[in-house]
Amino acid sequence: MLDKVVIANRGEIALRILRACREMGIKTVAVHSEADRNLKHVLLADESVCIGPAASAESYLNIPVLIAAAEVTDAVAIHPGYGFLAENADFAERVENSGYVFIGPRAESIRTMGDKVAAIRAMKAAGVPCVPGSDGPLGDDDDTNLRLARDIGYPIIIKAAAGGGGRGMRVVHSEAGLRNAIALTRSEAQAAFGDSTVYMEKFLETPRHIEFQVLADGEGSAIHLGERDCSMQRRHQKVSEEAPAPGIGEQQRTAMGERCAEACRRMNYRGAGTFEFLYQEGEFYFIEMNTRVQVEHPVTEMVTGVDIIKEQLRIAAGEGLSYAQEDICWRGHAIECRINAEDPKTFMPSPGTITQYHAPGGPGIRVDTHIYNGYAVPPHYDSMIAKLIAYGDERGSALARMRGALSEIVIDGIRTNIALHQDICNDAAFIAGGTDIHYLEKKLGL
Ligand code: ADP
Repeated sequence: MLDKVVIANRGEIALRILRACREMGIKTVAVHSEADRNLKHVLLADESVCIGPAASAESYLNIPVLIAAAEVTDAVAIHPGYGFLAENADFAERVENSGYVFIGPRAESIRTMGDKVAAIRAMKAAGVPCVPGSDGPLGDDDDTNLRLARDIGYPIIIKAAAGGGGRGMRVVHSEAGLRNAIALTRSEAQAAFGDSTVYMEKFLETPRHIEFQVLADGEGSAIHLGERDCSMQRRHQKVSEEAPAPGIGEQQRTAMGERCAEACRRMNYRGAGTFEFLYQEGEFYFIEMNTRVQVEHPVTEMVTGVDIIKEQLRIAAGEGLSYAQEDICWRGHAIECRINAEDPKTFMPSPGTITQYHAPGGPGIRVDTHIYNGYAVPPHYDSMIAKLIAYGDERGSALARMRGALSEIVIDGIRTNIALHQDICNDAAFIAGGTDIHYLEKKLGL
């Protein structure tokens, strides 16, 4: 097994990784910015290294300093968590070239999946269903592009191949706007991502977001852990997630999950990954693959009993997967609420000192958080401060436990979106299940 791991992240995911390492007898090195000296996992790690000032660009995104942290502590591997450098192929490459294990996929897999046109090609070749589209980059010929769009049918969406974080996309409703939209998306993509490649897809109007979790050993074996529904979103950001997805039966789960696992086998994929789909009228359409652990991984852990971080560590150590596909079964239902330090109405970030924190509890309740009484939420990073996860035998009981937990949890001193989650958990359409990705924004009148 790995002897010592650098946790190249912060907040709840750094603590989550630390806990998995401890359980497996792996020593931990916390790296932190000057603003993060009091992070819980920094206080709990075997060693810690300050890697720079508060600004992420000078600390959590500083590749040479992160590799130096592994050097000075004699660590053997680096776990990137999510966000920051987790999907940066150059980082993965430089970690491995420096002689350390990157706890994630090979750089080439990250690179392929980071280019959406290349990702779609790889998926098509593996038999994963994609959104009808241009099947490649758009050229400069207006007539060809007009014909393509006409064949696909309006509305269509123009997307940057190098896009990410919900940026670099533009919906076109009719032929009149096409030329301009392509030109605008191109120049935006060039400015934001340094790559003006764009492609075209059918715009699905009322999809749900359903994604499949996979684990692969990098030696040609891969399994899937079923799906999650992450349709509750605001500005393309997930607000809450659940597993399984309401209305998806065992047959569909097995069929789609197996296709994703097969795509991993073909790519010789290594580590944890997620295939994201839009789901509309009973059909799945691939949109992108995330080559890292995701924020919402706990709901899958709750319904399968698989510890995804421990599997990442095992795979990185070359020990392979602990499970065969037949070992995986799904039991019950889990829901996760992302608790953010933000105003529940205006969504403005609300950093500051937490004067009182009371954790909820009881059967089926899990809280993944780094906060504690007196912890000061810094203003420099993502506003997510906790994930509240509720498990039940079925969806109704998970939801009932979530309502209870939301009424028990106390976070004073800063504003949080707990009230928003209470509102969602009492919403008739959400209770019924299967709302689409626009539901929350419509409900909020946005
Ligand atoms: P990013 O990498 O920026 O997250 P994605 O390709 O995952 O980009 O798309 C982000 C979001 O944009 C999706 O979750 C969905 O809400 C919307 N979207 C993307 N492609 C389509 C499409 N073809 N039809 C409808 N909505 C889409």
